[in-house]
Amino acid sequence: MKLPYDYPVNFDLCVIGSGPAGIITALEYANLNPLKKVALVEYGIGNQTENALDNSIQINNTINHHPPLECTNKGFGGTSATWGGRCVMYDDIDFIDRPILNDGCTWNLSLFKDIKPFTTIAAKYFECGKPQFNTAGIPALSNKPIAEGFKPGIVTDDKLERYSMPTRFGKRYEATIKTQKNLTLLEGYEARDFSEPNETGKITFLTIREVTTKKMTRLSAGAFILAAGAQESTRILLRNSLIFKNLTTPPAALGKYYQGHLSGKIASVKFSGDPKKTNYSFEKDTDGTYVRRRFQFSTDFLKSNNLLNTAIWLDNPLYFDPRHHSGPMSFMYLAMITPVLGKKLAPPAIAHSITKGKVNKVGAHLGNIVKGLPGSLIKPAAIFYKRYCTTRKLPGIFLFSPENTYALHFHAEQIPFEGNCMKLDKDGETLIIDYSLTDADISSVIKLHDVLDKWLRECGCGELKYWFNKDELTSAIKNMSKDGLHQSGTTRIADTPDRGVVDTNLKVWGTDNIYVCSSSVFPTSGQANPTFLLGTFAARLAQHLTEMPVNKSTGTTEKSYQVAALTL
Ligand SMILES: Cc1cc2nc3c(=O)[nH]c(=O)nc-3n(C[C@H](O)[C@H](O)[C@H](O)COP(=O)(O)OP(=O)(O)OC[C@H]3O[C@@H](n4cnc5c(N)ncnc54)[C@H](O)[C@@H]3O)c2cc1C
Repeated sequence: MKLPYDYPVNFDLCVIGSGPAGIITALEYANLNPLKKVALVEYGIGNQTENALDNSIQINNTINHHPPLECTNKGFGGTSATWGGRCVMYDDIDFIDRPILNDGCTWNLSLFKDIKPFTTIAAKYFECGKPQFNTAGIPALSNKPIAEGFKPGIVTDDKLERYSMPTRFGKRYEATIKTQKNLTLLEGYEARDFSEPNETGKITFLTIREVTTKKMTRLSAGAFILAAGAQESTRILLRNSLIFKNLTTPPAALGKYYQGHLSGKIASVKFSGDPKKTNYSFEKDTDGTYVRRRFQFSTDFLKSNNLLNTAIWLDNPLYFDPRHHSGPMSFMYLAMITPVLGKKLAPPAIAHSITKGKVNKVGAHLGNIVKGLPGSLIKPAAIFYKRYCTTRKLPGIFLFSPENTYALHFHAEQIPFEGNCMKLDKDGETLIIDYSLTDADISSVIKLHDVLDKWLRECGCGELKYWFNKDELTSAIKNMSKDGLHQSGTTRIADTPDRGVVDTNLKVWGTDNIYVCSSSVFPTSGQANPTFLLGTFAARLAQHLTEMPVNKSTGTTEKSYQVAALTL
């Protein structure tokens, strides 16, 4: 909706950003509080691609970080327009301080315990089935190892990732939002500046700028939630240093400790048992939700060995390398590198993870396709149907290996490192992102591959085959790992403003009524993709604001909705 300039713009709650975090918080709060008025302010108009926000971000390391346009989507529904829908739970270890984190674990297990009840609400929004992230209770998986001979111990195989539809939050919740009478969606407005806080930290209004006309309007609310994604929520706080005037300085952690995940492949696993007993692909939970298992490492082992939380899952060999001799894989690779078609099949960041941006040995790929006929065409056609023509989409493609050999994909925690940061350029607008991998990040990934290798050998289950010489592994990881999609750390939770930016209820330190609901509040990145946990925090925040009525904080009453707009 467009804001008429005589529209009453006084709300109980103003949520900035309509990605998964914004939509869950706004809808939950509006439902829990039918007499309260909620505004959901969204910058993007329609399915926006090129936009001024992304164009004013400068990434200093383009090897390890995707360009801004590939990292987020601006528009109703946010980045869920292209996300993969992988819902993963954080682990206990992510909330436990370890020396390797350099004092960077500023949340704790009691908070983890506190948010767990909200996973049920989050799972409903993500449409990923019940919030159970292990094999127990799933008949197809319980009591079956990932591969014949595997025994759980310091390495585990019972953790699960679950898959959303994938739910595109804009499309999925558009009708619900329209019928929610106390919720107003304002599209095409950029949240700009907060008013100066009073002595207790209360902020009374936010200036929003219409994207097309650049007209400024004041929007008053009892509370404000920044749910604009990690980069933009951080940028808004950096630009609004005035809101911290009740602290001696803005929190030192603001914009710092930026993390994502190390991700890539350095080895294959060759299992020694029956290939047909290897659990290499997706399974379905009883309600049809796709789930998949992975190798992880026990909490005690990671703690006592001071290593970073890491998941390693079975994968296909590299698509671009025709030495896999698979007709279906070659067919899919050629489809992905075909201009126009490739863009329709996957968002750029995902396409890059498959093709590595390479046009490689097309002739040899064609040879694989011919040799593999008719399977080279039938298999991709079946996959295409399941992936693009059904409501619950096949989340990915994993092909059976008769040799019982699979590539291993690692997805690893990154150390909260102060030098990885977001900061404003001299113009006060451009967001500069410094991002790199530390030696400790990389060495933990290598060590955990060795641990997995040793464990599989001890079980008599299999062994790893490295793709690189040992002395090449560090540089291989440095060159292959690329993130920017899973952004955390820059507005982290902590018990004091000296260590973090928001408190455990996500309220910005030094203010009384600004909250951040973004994965930027996560002080550690764990092995998990962040959005499911973010949805859990969003549901909890809606509940928290309900218990602590936002109107009380400003002393406004229901009548105050009728205050006329102030156009600047
Ligand atoms: C290709 C890709 C695949 C991914 N796959 C997964 C996955 O499988 N699993 C997973 O957990 N995560 C995945 N992610 C990450 C996931 O998409 C994000 O974690 C999630 O979308 C974050 O939700 P959010 O609501 O915080 O932010 P977003 O979804 O980014 O939404 C933020 C919204 O705020 C709006 N906004 C920004 N600034 C302003 C402003 N100043 N004023 C008003 N509005 C503003 C934006 O336009 C946007 O619509 C993926 C990301 C990408 C790019």
